[in-house]
Amino acid sequence: MAMAYRKPSDTEVVEAIKDALHRHGVVNSQRKMTELVLKELRRHDSDYSVSEARVRRLAIRNDLAKIEIYGRETRDKTLAGACPVCGGRTKRIRNLTVYGGTVTMGYRCSVCGYWTGLRQRVPTLYVFSPK
Ligand SMILES: [Zn+2]
Repeated sequence: MAMAYRKPSDTEVVEAIKDALHRHGVVNSQRKMTELVLKELRRHDSDYSVSEARVRRLAIRNDLAKIEIYGRETRDKTLAGACPVCGGRTKRIRNLTVYGGTVTMGYRCSVCGYWTGLRQRVPTLYVFSPK
C-alpha cells in the first residue's frame, strides 16, 4: 500500500504552530503539540505529515514558544556537539577550581537553554507555552 505523505514548507509549519498555540495555549507534551500542528496543517492538505523534531526545532528557531525541557540523567558520558533538542551547538559549563583552573561541569545550548551534566541528560518531556 502506498503512503502519500507530503511535506509542508517551513512557513506552513510555522503558521500551523502559531495557530495551534493560539487555539490551545500551554501544550504539555511533544506528541500532543505535533498532533495539534498536524490538525492545523491538514486543514490545507490532508496528506501533510510532520515529525516531532521538526515541529520542536521550528518552534525554537522562530521564537514561537517558550519550551520547558524535563530530562532524565543516564549513565552515558555526555559528548560535546549538537543539542538534542534544537540542533544548536552546546557549550561547556565551566567552574573555577580552588587551584585556579577550570573544570567542565556540563554543557548548555545557547539557543534553547537545554543543559546536561557530565552524564547525559536525555529530554523526556517538553512543555510548550505561547510567547
Ligand atoms: Zn538547543
